[in-house]
Amino acid sequence: MSEIVGRRLAQLANLPASELKGVGATQAASLGKMGIRSVLDVLMHYPRRYIDRTKEAKIADLEVGEEAAILVNVKRSTQRRTGKGKSMVIVTVTDGTASMDVTFFGQPFREKQLQPGLDAVFFGKLELYGGKRKMTNPVVDLIGNRTGRILPVYGQSEKAGIASWDIARFCEETLSRAGDFAEPLDEELLDRLDLVARTEAFRAIHMPESMAESAAARKRLVFDELLRVQVELVRRKRELERTAVGIAHVVGEGGGPLVKRFHDVLPYELTGAQAKTIGEINEDLAKGHPMHRLLQGDVGSGKTVVAVSAMLVAAQGGHQAALMAPTEVLAEQHHLGIKQLLEDFTVPDTDEGNLFGGAGMDRSLRVALLTNRISAPDRRKILEDMAAGNLDIVIGTHSLISEGIEFKSLGVVVIDEQHRFGVEQRAALRDKGAGDAMPDVLVMTATPIPRTAAMTVYGDLDVSVLDELPPGRTPIVTKWAQSDMDELVVWQQVRDEIAEGRQVYVVCPLIEESEKLEVRSAEETFEELTNGELVGLRVGLLHGRLKSDEKDSVMTQFRAGELDALVSTTVIEVGVDVPNATVMVILDATRFGIAQLHQLRGRVGRGAAKSFCWLVGESKTPDGEARLEALVRSTDGFELAEVDLDLRGEGTIMGERQKGQNDLKLASLRRDREWVVIAREVAMELLDADPDLVKHELLAEEVDLLLKADDIDFLMKS
Ligand code: ADP
Ligand code: MG
Repeated sequence: MSEIVGRRLAQLANLPASELKGVGATQAASLGKMGIRSVLDVLMHYPRRYIDRTKEAKIADLEVGEEAAILVNVKRSTQRRTGKGKSMVIVTVTDGTASMDVTFFGQPFREKQLQPGLDAVFFGKLELYGGKRKMTNPVVDLIGNRTGRILPVYGQSEKAGIASWDIARFCEETLSRAGDFAEPLDEELLDRLDLVARTEAFRAIHMPESMAESAAARKRLVFDELLRVQVELVRRKRELERTAVGIAHVVGEGGGPLVKRFHDVLPYELTGAQAKTIGEINEDLAKGHPMHRLLQGDVGSGKTVVAVSAMLVAAQGGHQAALMAPTEVLAEQHHLGIKQLLEDFTVPDTDEGNLFGGAGMDRSLRVALLTNRISAPDRRKILEDMAAGNLDIVIGTHSLISEGIEFKSLGVVVIDEQHRFGVEQRAALRDKGAGDAMPDVLVMTATPIPRTAAMTVYGDLDVSVLDELPPGRTPIVTKWAQSDMDELVVWQQVRDEIAEGRQVYVVCPLIEESEKLEVRSAEETFEELTNGELVGLRVGLLHGRLKSDEKDSVMTQFRAGELDALVSTTVIEVGVDVPNATVMVILDATRFGIAQLHQLRGRVGRGAAKSFCWLVGESKTPDGEARLEALVRSTDGFELAEVDLDLRGEGTIMGERQKGQNDLKLASLRRDREWVVIAREVAMELLDADPDLVKHELLAEEVDLLLKADDIDFLMKS
């Protein structure tokens, strides 16, 4: 092991920011308010943009409506009140090519802040008002009288009294006192990836000589962030593989007797993707350490067959399997479907004391449903049977992992639609295995997320993808009904399809703020439709406030074809499978996100008949428009997920898991897609050659330092 030469990040993390000469007690307190406490925090407070003085925008050259950052000198600043008594500060600025007035509404502090003579960067849109150029409420960055061709502009805090130039000064002092940084990566790797050295990266992100230099610096620092996350995820994954004890299931020829039989009796051939995924899962199941696999598959891609296959591996070896669905309706539907698929299946009886059978004989494979709706005595019986090992497959909701539920030997757990499950619930599963062995876990999701996001969010899991739909599906025709005229067409088509004996879903506007309001709006929609467009037809209403037996009976009627249309809130979003339903009407569609719309649309197109999806309503925002247009254009969930990532940024896609992750300061899962892939490959390469990172001590130290313990636990629990 070679000695580490140069400044380590860990050393800077141990120095309070007040160690810097420029930082006194007041400034330290102000920095603290911005979350900057150590010298390392200062170093890692990266500029939010740069002003390239060689290519600076000039007031005189700006087009009306153009957004730009301009470097200006303040001439005058005055405060007035608007007619309504709001503060209005008018600042006159010049940049040598022209002068203009800049107006700030509701920001009285600007008068004092923008004193005559001050240099500042204004970022905003050029407007024309009464023939004069102006800007309103631009973003202001105080950069001071600084020289250099490229000016870094830092996120700052007016309230805390810290300006961009202060932070620039602190960063410069940090860099000059830190000297050369210790390098965690091999030179060979840096060469191969064309990355600059760490010392150069930290200098050039703060004090670049050119925009190209700052871009190269960013690239290196982005890679470091992504690599640390991947190293941690891959390291944890490998550790689990080495240490956790699972059940080495016996997977025979064709998966084993029950699995083979199951595939034989299916009325169709497995798709290539299903066969491949089942193969991957069987390999995992045969291993002595627990499976932890994510199955991504678009709606209708046939995940159920894959899940049942995995559960049968457990059952044929005398273990049990559990399937957890996000709602009772879905649990019941799975139960019905799976019972049907597994009719007349038998397993070897291992119960020695059984009067009617006994070891060596076969008994029926038993599938049970356990939800909160089961009566108390039935529930007690099911619990007894689960503990005694008399039940092979148990289907339920979260309640399956609640306290006091015991399995004799839980071998495989399938979690359907994991995004509805809480982190703690998933963690609780780990305690349900037999003895010390952890059950194998398969998490299924119908919400495709882009590959690079999956690598980060689920980097500790193995991932299988069902990227092929069963054959013979006609793609769903999606249309956007923007006008009242369009809407007439929608309802006409709905009536036509119903006249053909088909069924229709009508999804009511999403009201996130209040379930009560959402239910009321669904009831109103139901009233309107049954007295208007759908008068005389058999229409059901489904929403979250119905009692469960009411929900049940509506769903049963719809499934049985006793209802022509189902007016519903988003409770029908996932998993509902009625092949005779061919039209999905989504009211006020712009209120929904891409993933949700795609899920809803997936409720139709499940049979042989051509299906339609109508997105109803005007879009009030460009993003809303882009979302609906994407839905009209594509039925590919993965493609839509990429669009979603582009539109929304990673925050929402990362969801819960990202909250704890604060090492991604520069990296963006969207902008830096290809670097996520590279970082993962490098992490695997490093850990394959050096599992405990003894030759990469510094990298290991930085992973521990920068991925806080909480974050990692958070990542791992999911
Ligand atoms: P999802 O992935 O959305 O859970 P399902 O498992 O509910 O999909 O399957 C959707 C439909 O496709 C079901 O009706 C199922 O019977 C059918 N299906 C599944 N696999 C195949 C296949 N290989 N060939 C034809 N149909 C299939
Ligand atoms: Mg499903």
